[in-house]
Amino acid sequence: MNAVMPQSTSAPEQGSSAAVFAVEKVNLLGMTRPELEQFFEQLGEKKFRAGQVMKWIHQFGVTDFAQMTNISGKLREKLEKVAEIRAPEVVHRNYSKDGTRKWVFRVGDGAGSLVETVLIPANDKTGARKTLCISSQVGCALDCSFCSTGKQGFQRDLTPAEIIGQLWVANQSYMEDVPVAERSRTVTNVVMMGMGEPLLNFEPVVASMALMLDDFAYGMSKRRVTLSTSGVVPMIDKLAETIDVALAISLHAPNNELRDELVPINKKYPLEQLIPAAQRYLAKDGNESSRKHITIEYVMLDGVNDKAEHAQQLLKLLKDLPSKINLIPFNPFPHAPYGRSSRNRIMAFQKTLSDAGFVCTIRQTRGDDIDAACGQLVGQVADRTRRAERWQKKVASQQGEILRTQGD
Ligand code: SF4
Repeated sequence: MNAVMPQSTSAPEQGSSAAVFAVEKVNLLGMTRPELEQFFEQLGEKKFRAGQVMKWIHQFGVTDFAQMTNISGKLREKLEKVAEIRAPEVVHRNYSKDGTRKWVFRVGDGAGSLVETVLIPANDKTGARKTLCISSQVGCALDCSFCSTGKQGFQRDLTPAEIIGQLWVANQSYMEDVPVAERSRTVTNVVMMGMGEPLLNFEPVVASMALMLDDFAYGMSKRRVTLSTSGVVPMIDKLAETIDVALAISLHAPNNELRDELVPINKKYPLEQLIPAAQRYLAKDGNESSRKHITIEYVMLDGVNDKAEHAQQLLKLLKDLPSKINLIPFNPFPHAPYGRSSRNRIMAFQKTLSDAGFVCTIRQTRGDDIDAACGQLVGQVADRTRRAERWQKKVASQQGEILRTQGD
């Protein structure tokens, strides 16, 4: 069966003869250039149509084939019949006063199929750098002990359309009132650092990052697309073979004992495997600017991983790994077993690392007026959705009761 052509569904359309089958339209949003070229060739069209359509979709945010004016009317009609451009449904959005934007997307049925995306503008005069944090899975199986997403469990992998759709919607949010001809892409940086472990949803994540780098789509530079992993060692090597993007490691602990507790995948791939994998990633041929250093993420948990001895252990661990360290003040969520390190503790930790020659930054806490930790907004929306579902069921059962009573 061909993956890129429209498929007949097995059930006949309601009210039609059994011989007529509904055709499921192909969603072009998540297709890479080679896939789209194949799609057009199978339609009997030239390959270059792929680039044209990609520009309409990703650069101008156009979903209606009728607006694609450099494509013949006949081809547009053909596309209407077999294809569509469909982003995941936005069920909640929130724009903070400080410029942070958050979206919750529904990517399936029920309260458990929600993912969130956050856009953070740089905290400088221009605010020109806009970084989008994208989710790769619904929930997460890795259950890091400080993570709100991990507490929701794993639901499923996102498709390429659901992953790139988050970037598409974020750009679109700045284009809505702009005439098509004047539209431009606003998001400048992407980090695959939202819900889920991106290396455990490898192909869809790589396909989405290929679209981010493609000049016919988002044309982002390799060093502005970052994949963040908790440390799936074999997949770090596979990533190095597959695509050239920047790498971040969610480290959070400077020794195995503590990391086993905070990031349980460490039991499978301990630090003596993880650090060499990061070194191999940087040493890979074709070393571009994206591979000059690894970003190390380190969440600051009060009294847990933020002591002077931890800073010293971290220095030792990273001494042969070109790295930039990003200290992340913990955002507590309901029932979280940790608290946020004090400002003084974080500053002291930073000083130790900076004095030793590392570039060490402290992540600004942003968007506080719209929610707190990653995964938390989904929790809140899911709670509301579940409440709404319960309420709808209650109303339906009460209506059934009334009808039954009337029929008696
Ligand atoms: S920190 Fe990342 S890998 Fe760990 S549970 Fe949360 S989403 Fe998953």
